[in-house]
Amino acid sequence: MTLDSIRIGLGWDRHRMVPGRPFIIGGIEIPHDHGPQGHSDGDILLHAAMDAVLGASGDDDIGTLFPDDDPEYEGVSSSELTQKVMRRVTARGFRVLSMDAVLIVERPRIAPFRSEIRDSLAALFNVGRDRVNVKAKTAEGIGPEGEGLVVEASVATLLQST
Ligand code: MG
Repeated sequence: MTLDSIRIGLGWDRHRMVPGRPFIIGGIEIPHDHGPQGHSDGDILLHAAMDAVLGASGDDDIGTLFPDDDPEYEGVSSSELTQKVMRRVTARGFRVLSMDAVLIVERPRIAPFRSEIRDSLAALFNVGRDRVNVKAKTAEGIGPEGEGLVVEASVATLLQST
């Protein structure tokens, strides 16, 4: 393997929290009375992760591929979109080597679900569980994140051309 075959990708997403929406993160639903608003299911982690792998593979971003004014993507599962993205990434000759994520979520508590979220990401991005990690932070009550008005995800990834 040469370093020339490695590409780095970075993705970020932030959604407003609203009452009565399911809280889906990394393809896992966490019981909570608020959830991220969105045209799709509002899964910030998968949105950031998709943009990270698309960016690394030199492709368009999710906003271009799945426009939020297109009725086809209304209420769509981000896990489904991730499968489409991974077909594109594979077709361009890349595989995911590793992925690391930071979530800023004041509520609900993510820690009890971290392991399940890692498994879900590993399956969706076709990468070993030991090569995927997720860290959940709070914003200590400061700013819109800290007040629980928004939730945020950042994802870095390495891809290798196969
Ligand atoms: Mg989004």
